[in-house]
Amino acid sequence: MSGEKEISICDECGSEFYKETSDMMGLCPECAHILYGYPNCEHVFQNGRCVKCYWNGKESEYIHMLKTKQTGTLILDGQEFNLLDSENTRLNFFESDEEEGTLTISLDLDFERKLFQLKEDEGESEPEEVSPQIIINEHETGKSSIDEIIGDDYEVESVEEAEEREDMFYVYEHEPFINYTLSVVEKEGEMVHIRMEGKAIADGYSRPEKIADFSSDFWLRCKKD
Ligand SMILES: [Zn+2]
Ligand SMILES: [Zn+2]
Repeated sequence: MSGEKEISICDECGSEFYKETSDMMGLCPECAHILYGYPNCEHVFQNGRCVKCYWNGKESEYIHMLKTKQTGTLILDGQEFNLLDSENTRLNFFESDEEEGTLTISLDLDFERKLFQLKEDEGESEPEEVSPQIIINEHETGKSSIDEIIGDDYEVESVEEAEEREDMFYVYEHEPFINYTLSVVEKEGEMVHIRMEGKAIADGYSRPEKIADFSSDFWLRCKKD
């Protein structure tokens, strides 16, 4: 090492860090990035410390909570709902019963309660408060690790297929999917980025049933049982 680098202690995570590598006096580059959006260090870990900023890789509970918060949106018939990080919202990778050593993927999503109205109903009826929910039951991935699942798509192509799988979309009541594609986009730490798009019956009370496009983009914590 050439010369002594001045070391500070991070107020948030408690790690030592090289003072010159952070834009904030009392925070390491990692915490300054997560809390205030400053550019992060591109950490290179050797023997438990980043060789560039000297961070020890440990997180405060608060930072961990921020990094692992489940977030996302649903756009249903052009109207946006935020994902709720509720007890129901979860992504599961279970051991497959069909093919030993491989995983299945399944997920539940809860969205915020909000006034909603299908575009085709505008002017004909009043908006109603709805709390959309999506339940996707297990898809066989044929893969043995989550990393191998990144980049894969899972498709359902008909109402019959969705009903047989018992996948569900709740808007006003249990509304079947007409079709959907679920894409596993990327993984960062313990968070998985997923996109879904398709068509669903958005008002099963009406006759004929009313159909709406939806798309959803979200980050979920991955749990492997
Ligand atoms: Zn820190
Ligand atoms: Zn670093």
